Amino acid sequence: MPRPILATVHGAALRHNLERVRRAALDARVWAVVKANAYGHGIERVFDSLRAADGFALLDLAEAERVRALGWRGPVLLLEGVFEARDLELCSRLSLWHTVHCDEQIDMLAAHKTQVPQRVFLKMNSGMNRLGFTPERFRSAWTRLNALPQVEEISLMTHFSDADGARGIAHQLEVFERVTQDLPGERSIANSAATLRHAPQTRVDWVRPGIVLYGSAPDFPEGDAARWQLQPAMSLRTRLISVQTLQAGDTIGYGSSFTAEGPLHIGVAAVGYADGYPRHATTGTPVLVDGVRTRMVGRVSMDMVTVDLTPVQAAGVQAGFGSEVTLWGAASNGTLLPIDEVARAAGTVGYELMCAVAPRVPFALDGDEAAA
Ligand SMILES: *Cc1c(COP(=O)(O)O)cnc(C)c1O
Repeated sequence: MPRPILATVHGAALRHNLERVRRAALDARVWAVVKANAYGHGIERVFDSLRAADGFALLDLAEAERVRALGWRGPVLLLEGVFEARDLELCSRLSLWHTVHCDEQIDMLAAHKTQVPQRVFLKMNSGMNRLGFTPERFRSAWTRLNALPQVEEISLMTHFSDADGARGIAHQLEVFERVTQDLPGERSIANSAATLRHAPQTRVDWVRPGIVLYGSAPDFPEGDAARWQLQPAMSLRTRLISVQTLQAGDTIGYGSSFTAEGPLHIGVAAVGYADGYPRHATTGTPVLVDGVRTRMVGRVSMDMVTVDLTPVQAAGVQAGFGSEVTLWGAASNGTLLPIDEVARAAGTVGYELMCAVAPRVPFALDGDEAAA
């Protein structure tokens, strides 16, 4: 028998979440952001469920090739643009739209030999201070791009630093709108948090949701998946492989970080940090056993974790077959454990957990793909 861990991708949840974004974005077009291998879900696995999007946005040329290989003929956007001049040949060949955020990328375009003028998204640094032209330099970049025969159409984009938090987007939106007000071209400004929390201002031509498509709240814990009506697109499940009975004073695992105060049943589950489960998930991190909510106890090991079986005394290992353990997502009985709760207990965000599922974990698409 293979090791019982499995990550299941839920096509119906992806379709639901995309629909949810459409309701928030009204008539804006939707880039489904599938960078980082679709936030760890696998581009090939999510493609059918997300093909109702208007385009796919990602970072990596190899990922863009994979989207084209799946037969997608619609828009594909490189969110950071090209990294070197020869990338532009692939942009021409695969008709990729690309972000232009620095002078070097304009230089490369000016030197690029092509019959097919390209569609570019000119990026403004409106306060995030990562990529893009400053407000002072944005218009001269636009003028330079606009004069190039290699450029067919220029769209305008920016990215918000605090769409999920208290500072909000007003300060950046004001800069973006002031500098671009008389420039032609489509706009794209909203990630997931901006799309859900800051409509209608952010509902311009293209929205760029990533995390919400995968069912994690962009603003946890202020918002959560239930509040935003999102469904988890990934469930990470394994099984118990052993049960131990502890007495008062017994400890668990490396470093003896947990001491039983009295008699205690614990289950040992086949998942560890080598599967991408966060090692910082200490005692108290929520977990489901047979769909019943309980908690981690003791340290996460490379290949195993230990869970408190107090609320689920019937759990165990019968004839070599252990009770189901859900690390995040949905248990077989339908009980949900939001990835955001696990992430918070481990001092991180849902994004990181879903991107970090290790290559040794097998994936499956659940059986509801007939509609795709
Ligand atoms: C990753 C990314 C997004 C999507 O962000 P989410 O928070 O996952 O919605 C949008 N725009 C850009 C430029 C990105 O890099």
